[in-house]
Amino acid sequence: MSDDCLFCNIVAGEIPCRKVAETDTLFAFADINPQAPTHILIVPKKHIESNLDLSPMDAGLIGEAYLLANRIAKETGIDKTGFRVVTNTGRNSGQMVMHLHLHLLGGRPMNWPPG
Ligand code: 5GP
Ligand code: ZN
Repeated sequence: MSDDCLFCNIVAGEIPCRKVAETDTLFAFADINPQAPTHILIVPKKHIESNLDLSPMDAGLIGEAYLLANRIAKETGIDKTGFRVVTNTGRNSGQMVMHLHLHLLGGRPMNWPPG
């Protein structure tokens, strides 16, 4: 836990959120500024700054995060029409919160390439 990290504080229950799912290692909640009808953030409970800070020991954790994205996609029904899983990393990507997170987006058609 990093005391000054927004998502660590959400995981710890210090900052309210609309929780969607929780496992031993992961926490999922609704994005406060949704960019699609379904926009869920999936974060590791432990503080990892970005994709670049993953270690080989986190390989299982990331696999679990993608499997949780599938579970939530099925629970919300966006699996039927398709969805996108995005991880922004660093300045050019627009990463704003320096605690690794997967965006799970669905419920509307999306353009490619992204802006
Ligand atoms: P990033 O740009 O770092 O990939 O994405 C950060 C995401 O966190 C954004 O989509 C933003 O809307 C979301 N966000 C920022 N602050 C909060 C908050 O306090 N609560 C929730 N639920 N989401 C937040
Ligand atoms: Zn954190």
